[in-house]
This record gives sequence, structure tokens and C-alpha cells, in this order.
Amino acid sequence: MDGGEIISAEPVTTDTIKNPLADQKKIQLDILRLDKIHPVVSGNKWFKLRYYTADALNKGYATLLTFGGPYSNHIAATAYAAKIQGLNTIGVIRGESPKQWSHTLQEAQMCGMQLVFLSRNEFDTIKRNVHTKKFEAQFGKAYIIPEGGFGPLGIQGAADILRITDISLYTHIVSAVGTGTTIAGIIQASNPHQKVTGISVMKNNLSLNDEIQSLLNIPLPDRFRIVHDYHFGGYAKCTPALTASMNQFYHASTIPLDFVYTAKMMYGIFDLMGKDFFRPHSRILAVHSGGLQGNRSLAHGVLVF
Ligand SMILES: *Cc1c(COP(=O)(O)O)cnc(C)c1O
Repeated sequence: MDGGEIISAEPVTTDTIKNPLADQKKIQLDILRLDKIHPVVSGNKWFKLRYYTADALNKGYATLLTFGGPYSNHIAATAYAAKIQGLNTIGVIRGESPKQWSHTLQEAQMCGMQLVFLSRNEFDTIKRNVHTKKFEAQFGKAYIIPEGGFGPLGIQGAADILRITDISLYTHIVSAVGTGTTIAGIIQASNPHQKVTGISVMKNNLSLNDEIQSLLNIPLPDRFRIVHDYHFGGYAKCTPALTASMNQFYHASTIPLDFVYTAKMMYGIFDLMGKDFFRPHSRILAVHSGGLQGNRSLAHGVLVF
């Protein structure tokens, strides 16, 4: 079965956001709707996984193994992508097995993913020792996808995001940043006249620039910048102001955002707009990287969608 045919970028649209602040600042804001690709393997995760799964199949592997936290969209997406391509999967999860499993873990298990819970220490150690005999003895022969797809094949897939639509007229491309794999691909595929801005969703993850640089093997261009001001307390942290902004954005645009990544990105874009970060007549392409399944861990009724 070819998963590439089952999941396709065809449903993706580029929607223009009508917004009074954008009008006042003479800015065009478009959003690339990767969230429309698929409810589970949504958004950037599918792009980041594509070349890994193809490589695994080419090399004759029967099993994929990857790493993530209990709420990881990457875990859910890998489990699903493996299932539809007839591959087994092992998910190594950070932390002891929780009493109440997250939707992500339940979904991954329903896709047939074998879940292995490791303490934070064991998890960090084992991630650094994947190419050892001991690792193979513990997990068997498996194709290893780094956490978050962070690696050259992940970047290659992420670069394809900018090939879905004609990006030439945009002055800015903005995306949420976790591991930095997606933004690295965006840097690679963007044009030299375009500013690339990443909104980091983690608190003070100041090693990001170095990590992205190590992946790209080129000096990071000046037109690239990571903004660290919109993490709302840290990774997967949420505040009433954030959910209020998600509801407000949905009322105005009927576009749902996820609270871990894209809501922080959109909040950041509007806040930066108010601070004249973008010049008049800028044309911004914001990447809606998906992740909507994560909203199921919010209390019922907090979101209007
Ligand atoms: C994983 C994820 C990101 C971050 O991608 P990285 O490549 O790890 O930086 C952004 N948005 C969504 C919705 C995600 O699930």
C-alpha cells in the first residue's frame, strides 16, 4: 500500500485572513492550511515523515521506531503513517506510563503502535545510543526516526511544504517552532528575498539556532529569526488569554488552531503586527502546521469549535 496516495496535500488551501489590525497596518496575511490534510497525520508531521517512511520501505525494514512525549503529535502521526503503509511501529515514550492515557497514546496504540515507557533519564540516554548492540537487543531491528523527525530527511520533507503553493509573492513566512525541523526546511525552500520567522513554543529554548544550524550545514541567514516571546509559560502550557484568542480567531475566520503550536504562532503574528515588526505592504504567509488532535486534552467547552 502506498501511503503517499492515501494522504495527499490536495485539500490544502491558502486562505486570506480578514483582520482590522492587518488592514490598518496595510499587511496581507495568508494562512497555508496544512491542517486540512488529515485529522491525525495532520500538517507538518506528514511532510516530516514522508521521506523517512519511504527510506524504511526501500531498505526493507518492517518496523519503525521513534521517540516522543505522551502528547506528541509526532507519535500519533508516526503510528498512523506506519499503519497505512503496513509497517509495525514502536513508540518510545518519555516518562512512566500515566494512569490516564492521553488521546495521543490511545490513538497510537489503536494504530498498533507498541508503546514503551521510559523514565526521563533512561529516555534521554537511550535516544543517544540508538546505534548500539544493546539497543537492537532491546527493541529488535527497527528503522529509527529521530524525535520530531529532526534530521536531513525531515528537513527535506518540510521543504516540500513551500512547494504546495506559489510562495514567490510573499515577503514573510512564519511558522511555529518545536524541534526546528520544519523551520529548517522552510529556510531551505524559501527565496533569498523572504524573511523567515519562527515562533518558538518552548520557554527559552535558546539552543534552537545552533540545532537548526547543525542540520542545515550552512550559516543561518540574517533573514531568519526565532522569536521566543510567545510560549505562554512553556511547551503545551495554556492560559485563558490563549484560548480566548483561539476562539476569537475562529469567530473571525472559521479556522481552528491548536493550543500547543499554531495558536501561539497566530497570537505572536498579531502581537508583532501591533509592534510594527512587519513593514506596511508586507505579505505574510503563516503556516498552519496542523496539530488539532492535541486540543482534545483541553477541558470540554473551553473552545468554541
Ligand atoms: C510538531 C509541530 C510543530 C513543530 O514542528 P518542528 O518541526 O518540531 O519544529 C509545529 N506545529 C505543529 C502543529 C506540530 O504538531
